[in-house]
Amino acid sequence: MSSVVIVGSVAFDNIITPFARGEFLLGGSASYASIAASYFAPARLVANVGKDFEERFLERFRKRNICLKGLQIDPAGETFFWAGKYHENFDQRDTLETRLNVLEHFRPDLPEDYRTTPFALLANIGPDLQVHLLDEMDPATKPFVVADTMNLWIDIMRAKLMEMIARVDLLVLNDEESEMLTEERNVYKAGAALRDLGPKFVIIKKGSHGAILFGPEGKLFAMPAYPVEDLLDPTGAGDSVVGALTGFLASKNATDFDSIKQAMIYATVTASFTVEAFSCDSLESAGREGIDTRAARLREIIEVE
Ligand code: AMP
Repeated sequence: MSSVVIVGSVAFDNIITPFARGEFLLGGSASYASIAASYFAPARLVANVGKDFEERFLERFRKRNICLKGLQIDPAGETFFWAGKYHENFDQRDTLETRLNVLEHFRPDLPEDYRTTPFALLANIGPDLQVHLLDEMDPATKPFVVADTMNLWIDIMRAKLMEMIARVDLLVLNDEESEMLTEERNVYKAGAALRDLGPKFVIIKKGSHGAILFGPEGKLFAMPAYPVEDLLDPTGAGDSVVGALTGFLASKNATDFDSIKQAMIYATVTASFTVEAFSCDSLESAGREGIDTRAARLREIIEVE
């Protein structure tokens, strides 16, 4: 089994949904992604937090055996803060507030032994920091690189984002982001256009309608979402998808199309737990057994005689 190094944000989130609200919840792309990955393979977190990040939050990562050697704690600053509000149908959300705090001066310096990690996950964070992490990796290792992003970076850091994408093996985007990047409304044309930017594999997520995997030689695979009846807060679903996906591939030490298909099953069901509660709560309590049970159910759903 291989390890996964994960760079991204660790945050406090305020969330408003049509039915509930939560304040100062543990959030951030790297929090969700590392907890999701930890169900499958050893996860190494590269992120930063401030003096307000109490021991009880660190304990949540330690409980999942996530290595925190790459977590920088700035005794003078405060942790990145993000507030978001979902629309009636949960399909859209608005960012209400972003306070960069310690993220403003973050430089992801890798502990020496992280530099040879065979799998790297660039969870959502500025593409300059994602590229910096890749530059810090040992060039001889040639890690398998999975990356995520968000509309903000397409708007304000497009050139750096393109540089990052060119160095990625598996790019995971939602349909809105893929349309923004490629100006293609047709998902199949968008998938092909994204592969032309560099990544061998591309996954375009379509929210509650599932996801499509694009590979070499026109290879395609479509995966429905796991049927969730009690959606409470979709925050972190995308981060959980990439975390579980990369963790699963690392656990098999595999990077071929068929293994990515398998990984998508686990990614989908892992994210299905995330959205049933605020923060990482349901993701943490899911247990590997819970994930395996849902994976078996999803296999049943997609099976064709
Ligand atoms: P997702 O729902 O998968 O898009 O991810 C939600 C998480 O992204 C939240 O927990 C936020 O803390 C985090 N987030 C929001 N904006 C940013 C940003 N600009 N950079 C890094 N992380 C962010």
